[in-house]
Parts: sequence; structure tokens; C-alpha cells
Amino acid sequence: MKITDIKTFPLHAGERNYLFVKVETDEGLYGMGEFGITWKEQAGVGAIQHMKAHLLGQDPMNIEFLWQLMFRGDFFPGGRIGAAAISAIDIALWDIKGKALAQPVHMLLGGRLRDRVACYTGIGGQTPEDSALSAKDRVAAGWQYLRLSVPDRDGILDARTAVRDSVEHFAAVREAVGPEVEICIDAHTRLDPPDAIRLGRLLETYDPFFIEDPLRCENPQSYRQVRQHVASPLAVGEHYATKWEFRQMVEEELLDYARIDLCIVGGLTEARKIANWCETHYIKIVPHNPLGPVSAAACLQLDLATDNFAVQEGGRIGSSFLADVFPVQIPYEAGHVLPPEGPGLGIEFDEDAAAKFEFKWLNGPQLRRSDGSFTNW
Ligand SMILES: [Mg+2]
Repeated sequence: MKITDIKTFPLHAGERNYLFVKVETDEGLYGMGEFGITWKEQAGVGAIQHMKAHLLGQDPMNIEFLWQLMFRGDFFPGGRIGAAAISAIDIALWDIKGKALAQPVHMLLGGRLRDRVACYTGIGGQTPEDSALSAKDRVAAGWQYLRLSVPDRDGILDARTAVRDSVEHFAAVREAVGPEVEICIDAHTRLDPPDAIRLGRLLETYDPFFIEDPLRCENPQSYRQVRQHVASPLAVGEHYATKWEFRQMVEEELLDYARIDLCIVGGLTEARKIANWCETHYIKIVPHNPLGPVSAAACLQLDLATDNFAVQEGGRIGSSFLADVFPVQIPYEAGHVLPPEGPGLGIEFDEDAAAKFEFKWLNGPQLRRSDGSFTNW
């Protein structure tokens, strides 16, 4: 089998853009991948174009060889854009391999060790009462894991205020759902160490499942400070590309849950290596999944075959999102995703339907302080 074409589909749907990638072969099998860096989709299209020159005519079954070819093939490292482009192609190669062998991808990763995968869903409201109501609705619909975000106020983020607001929302949700529903909170890298520590200590009494991304990602050793003072589990890693960016966090045990993004980190190939490495430090994975149906399907395949898996970010599962473009998606049932029927990733793609969703040039939101200066998104 040989790779004959690699097509990119940047498109807009709902409130954001997506970049899907289709790898085609001379045997008529195709694989789907997804690029994970939102607001940089056209950079992804360009990076994939550069990689395509290396890949045409290659055997798509030789995934590790092709991964190394993409990662090392040109002198200058591609950084996170390059890793996200590799991710999209790598996931598509696993999809092809599964189809060629008539097996779902998780069977190629060692086999199925759970029969369903628990997911968390985002909740939140303008007030603590709204957040509590939202949480109760989700629990009634079958979700056992919920995630709040550290709130801003109309695009203004004052860290001291945000920590106080977070504690009020968290307390209201805990009161509403009781002790057995797991609640997480995501700071979206908006805090500095002193406020991250303050948030962690104030939340301890409410038993968070994890506190996610309290700090920006440039300086991993800043997590040492937070770690010293906060007993609650930390979840980190959705920005990281390749094993090299996870290295210090894992080796120094600065995180409890690795938020691997399969569409940024280097695909299923790299995510599998990082998950196994985490296992040697008793760190569990919670794959990041804010994207579309390909990301969700790839995460599910990894989760089914990984022992040190905790919970999956639900993202857009359980809805009819992009149902025309992906007429077959992974099965969902009451807060869980289930093993799909088909081989490969278990999804199907309609190229003509994708063409109807035009790409839009968008920039991400910006958060400011009340004086107009920047805070972290
Ligand atoms: Mg996050």
C-alpha cells in the first residue's frame, strides 16, 4: 500500500474553526486526522503541505518510521505547529492501519481493557446558583464528572477576584451534587504561582478531583512551588508537544494527571509513549479534547487500551456536531463513550459535506485587566 494524497479541510462550524486531514492510499482506504492548535489552522495547512512531500509513495503501515521521518526529516524542528501537523497525519495512519487489518485501533495498541470510557462535561454560569443548577442538570443526564472554569468577569480577569469567585462557584456545585460526583476546575493557565496556591488551598475542603492548568506552560519548574503548597491533584499538559515537553513534569512528578492532546502532542504514537511513561510514575492520563469528531475518536481508542487512564474530556461528544461531515461517529451513552463498531478509528468522513463549511479567519479571545493590560487566556 502507498500514500497517494494528503488533503486538508480547514472549516468553520459552530463558534470555531477545525482542521481535518485525510490521508488517501492506492488501495482505496483512507484515514482521518485532526490538527489541534485552534486559531492557527492555516499554519497547520502549510506544515502538512511541507510534510506531504516526504510522505507521498510511502507505505502508511510503517507508522513509527513515518513519525520519525516527519519529526526529524527537516533540519529545523517544527515546534508545536509541526507536532500538531504530525499528530493529524499520525492519527490518520492509525486509522488506515486499523482498516487494513480490519481491527479497531485500540486492538492494535494492546487490546481493550475497559468496556466504556467515563467523560467529564463543562458546567458553569454567571452566578454560583447558575453553576449549581447547571451541575444538577448534567448529573441528571448521567454525567458523574463535571468541570468548572475559573471565571472572568466580562473579559476582565483580576486574579484575586477570580480565585474568590472560583471558590464560591465550586462550593455551590459541591453542595448541589454531593460528595460522590467528581468536580474539576480549569484555570486555563490564567494564574501565577501565589494565586494558584491560594486557589488550591481554598478549594481543598471541597475535594476537587483536579485543578487544571493553574500556570502558563513556558516554565515547568514553577509547578514546584504550587506542588509544595497544594495537596489537591494537578492536571497539566494540554499545550505540550511531544514527549520532550512532558519530560520534566513527568520525571519530577509535578502533575497527577497528564492532559495529553493527541492532536498536538504527536498523535496516537506519541501519546501512547507518554502514557506508558506516566504509568511508571503513577500518573494517569486525562486526554484533552476540545476539538471535533476525529479527536474524540482517537482519544477513545487510546483510553480503551490504557490502564493508567482516569477520565476523558467530553468536548462535543453526545451531540449531533458535524453530523453531515462525519455520518458515523463514536457511540455515546449517559456520560460515557463506548467502543465503536467499525475498524480503525470507527468514524466515516464525507468530503462533499465538509466543503460546505467555509473556513473563517478568526482570532482567539483576549483577557485584560481593568487597566487594559493583558492577562492570560
Ligand atoms: Mg484545559
